[in-house]
Amino acid sequence: MTLILALDFGGTKLAAAVTQLGSREWLRYERRLSPIDGNATTDLAIMRSLIYSLLQDATPDAIGVSFGGPVDFTTGTVRLSHHVPGWENLPLKDLLEKEFAISAIVDNDANVAALGEHRFGAGEGYDSLFYITISTGVGGGWIINGQPWRGNAGMAGEIGHIVVNPAGPVCLCGKQGCVERLASGPYMAQDAKEYLFKPANQLQGQQLRSLVNDNLDLITGQIISQAATQGDELAIKILQSGAWALGVGIGNVANLINPQRFILGGSVTKAGEIWWNTVQKTARETALPEIDFEIVSAALGDDAPLWGAVALAESALISK
Ligand SMILES: [Zn+2]
Repeated sequence: MTLILALDFGGTKLAAAVTQLGSREWLRYERRLSPIDGNATTDLAIMRSLIYSLLQDATPDAIGVSFGGPVDFTTGTVRLSHHVPGWENLPLKDLLEKEFAISAIVDNDANVAALGEHRFGAGEGYDSLFYITISTGVGGGWIINGQPWRGNAGMAGEIGHIVVNPAGPVCLCGKQGCVERLASGPYMAQDAKEYLFKPANQLQGQQLRSLVNDNLDLITGQIISQAATQGDELAIKILQSGAWALGVGIGNVANLINPQRFILGGSVTKAGEIWWNTVQKTARETALPEIDFEIVSAALGDDAPLWGAVALAESALISK
């Protein structure tokens, strides 16, 4: 029996699973929240304990790893994590290969999730697709001609930092009006809070306010989606402006690369019909009429990076 170990280092959660080569089901699976004040050392310690509890006495034949941040794919070295300190230039592939004495392949989560959806999910049978995750950040991963396309030094797919409104608010990356600045959950929440804190806007966002019992600090992307579903005008406006930004990004990407499918995953995609309709309509209006594409929901949900890690590990076994 050929055993594959799949690991997912997310910004807020850690997951590990084992499966058999060729299987579509987990033999064992564990998921943990990453501690709020954690760092690379604590994340690695938690992951190590998950791994040993999953493996029991078995030895895996290959390890695939999804990492929530930029990774140098050729060396398997993490460049950094935007959420967890201490990951700067950490040789994750080397660490795992030394500890388990087998091949490990490490890539960033959007590339890995794209691979997972292509191999096991909404991208099965498609030759070209762009996977986009919209949650705490916005990232993307390519499959072109049936293969991952990572770009020079693994940096392809950064749809989150395509500028859609040069006069817009300042993004984490320093530019203005990026897709991520408008469409990610935390930024939508921040915009809602700032607006509602202004004395002149005290009578607005009633559903939003009541969902958090007037404690505006508790507003999240998910609360905005909920309020929008209840008809809150401010929540609808913010959600639509995020969806519009993403739609413009998708339409431009369609013009440039012309993939068959856009597959959308991540927590913000659970925002409901208003969000999805705006994304579809805006992307369609942005792209040339001759350019055909579909925008669909990811099929593997939160497990897309883990299944992509399985596909990575399989490729390590094949190339052996
Ligand atoms: Zn940016």
